[in-house]
Amino acid sequence: MKKRISILGSTGSIGRQALEVINKLRDKFEIISLAGGDNVELLNKQIKDFKPKFAYSTKKESLIGAKYATLDEICSNKENDIILVAVSGKIGLKPTLTAIKNGIDIALANKETLVMAGDIVMKLAKENGVNIIPVDSEHCAIHQCIKNITQVEKLIITASGGPFLNKSIEDMKKATVEEALAHPRWDMGRKITVDSATLMNKGLEVIEAHHLFGIDYDNIQVVVHPQSIVHSAIEYIDGSVIAQLGLPSMHIPIQYAITYPERFEGIKSKSFNFTEIARLDFEEPDWDKFKALKIAINSGRIGGSLPVCMNAANEEAVFAFLEGKIKLFDIINSVETMLSEHSFIKSPSIDEIFSIDEETRIKTRELFLKLV
Ligand code: MG
Repeated sequence: MKKRISILGSTGSIGRQALEVINKLRDKFEIISLAGGDNVELLNKQIKDFKPKFAYSTKKESLIGAKYATLDEICSNKENDIILVAVSGKIGLKPTLTAIKNGIDIALANKETLVMAGDIVMKLAKENGVNIIPVDSEHCAIHQCIKNITQVEKLIITASGGPFLNKSIEDMKKATVEEALAHPRWDMGRKITVDSATLMNKGLEVIEAHHLFGIDYDNIQVVVHPQSIVHSAIEYIDGSVIAQLGLPSMHIPIQYAITYPERFEGIKSKSFNFTEIARLDFEEPDWDKFKALKIAINSGRIGGSLPVCMNAANEEAVFAFLEGKIKLFDIINSVETMLSEHSFIKSPSIDEIFSIDEETRIKTRELFLKLV
């Protein structure tokens, strides 16, 4: 039987690669819905190629070939076996909650969902018997390594170090948008690429891992690994370490997540050759240069509403940086300012999460007006 899937964010980087995977596995999947943003030209092309029943675009009137459905309608449709949430940023949270409430499994490529509301999302998933299968390469690696979660002592999350790994703090202060977007290993969307340049992305991933696998922050280690071959590892209680290795390609974790628990050849990675790779380096992150990493992990550790504030401030600041309005380090400074002014709530409700998110965004944008 074909697996019935919907993709939120089909025109984005992950969504496009997911469709490349599905194109190789046409006999395994039936696409129920595709949701894109404003790139309706590409979305219409995808609709023509993959013939979903439903589609969503912000440009509703330009959709051709599928019935329009809202994100909420797409995620309430129980025809779906799985929904790939591949949108970027906070817009992933609401549809993910809807899908979980409807008992639909999630392939999650949107880490902000867990950063903002990890406690609520994971609890709801458990209550509804929903699997949340990570697409993020590090979490996919951990998911592949774990056999019995109760025997896991520690998670080891690798970080490539991004474009500024071997640059000075002074270089980073002067960094242009192009330099921040020139990631040495991974081809990703713009927001996540900037997050990877500041290592904020790795901080968000630590929070994501904490929620997905229920491991304490004290037992999650970040290791810089410039070659991006070891995608992450786990240490068992007896000290055995299991790592997942592979050439850097997002096709593989996407394919793993949407075909899980099966494995198919699909888009096959080039055969792995240890002698060609020859060496693998590992080092401690430079915590002073990549302050965002520390800030993100600390806010995850404190929990409650703090990661919501941190995520909102970061996302707004990254947009402003991409528009050339602020400098790279202003992203971190804005996040710190917003965190210092935040009124903490220990167990925020979903409504509180959305209002904290909105308020923080408004305040962050006001902050930029003072900067320029
Ligand atoms: Mg990742």
